[in-house]
Amino acid sequence: MSVRKNVFYGIIAVFIIAVAVLLGAGGTLYKAHAEEKKVVTTGTNVRLRESASLEGEILYNLPLGATLTETARIGEWALVNFNGMQGFVNTQFIADAGAAGSAAVLPGQTAGASGGAVVTPPPQTGGHIVCIDPGHQAKGDNRTEPNGPGSGVMKARVTGGTHGSTSGLYEYQLTLAVGELLRNELASRGYTVYMTRTSHDVNVSNMERAQYATAVGAEISVRLHANGSTNPGVSGALALAPSASNPYVPGIAAKSQSLSSKILSGYCAATGMGNKGVQANDTMTGMNWCTMPVSIIEMGFMTNPSDDANMANPEFQKRMAKGIADGIDAYFAS
Ligand SMILES: [Zn+2]
Repeated sequence: MSVRKNVFYGIIAVFIIAVAVLLGAGGTLYKAHAEEKKVVTTGTNVRLRESASLEGEILYNLPLGATLTETARIGEWALVNFNGMQGFVNTQFIADAGAAGSAAVLPGQTAGASGGAVVTPPPQTGGHIVCIDPGHQAKGDNRTEPNGPGSGVMKARVTGGTHGSTSGLYEYQLTLAVGELLRNELASRGYTVYMTRTSHDVNVSNMERAQYATAVGAEISVRLHANGSTNPGVSGALALAPSASNPYVPGIAAKSQSLSSKILSGYCAATGMGNKGVQANDTMTGMNWCTMPVSIIEMGFMTNPSDDANMANPEFQKRMAKGIADGIDAYFAS
């Protein structure tokens, strides 16, 4: 009798422990899903900062594809945990880990259609730092700023830009769409990428965009724009760079022209767009305040029905971004 009783109590005890373990595990999983989110870094050397500001002390340089646990969001900053460290990362350098799964995306392949996490092999280009400036914003700002350091010439802080004559797409929408694709493409090739804006509802002047590129330590600044003309027959891509006689930035003229030429070649090869060449331009505030080689790429004419239809096409936009990235690769390889 006593042996049977012990076996009975033993079975009951095992049963209770098993239920407790299952409940415990279930409870833990539920808590993790409800309160935390896994995100991954989409650039190399993503700064983990002590506070939610570009001025915040850098705690750690996160590698590309690092998995972080996000616990809160404050404006453009996410509060995250990484290997026991807690800090803030700018949300433009992270993506939802669940969005595209954790499968590696190799060079030449594209990320999931969701545009989520891009996890890539180690950097192949030495982690060069690139600033992308998607031209314009939802609303222009006609208040003025100096056309260059020390200049008495005052120009509008930022203009409204052009728009697609047939697509109805605004230039600021096109430049950000291509800018985000370019950021992902460059990050997948090992670059560290900064963007002057990641939404339309901002007010960042052309001078401030140049100063931002300097502040983040960019080695080059790539400014994305599209053209407009009163003649709908005019089509093709061109690039703008300062001339050697630019009164503000003659020192970056040669490299800016080289950068512009390389980007334009890569872009036209990938898209089939007509190549209208590199034009010297010393009137652009956003170039005259630059401290690193800079190029404005006018990706096509939104007033031309063919250019407009092509550039409004998301599949074509991927080729645009790839071509610009090819040009940037060629610039750093030269
Ligand atoms: Zn523009």
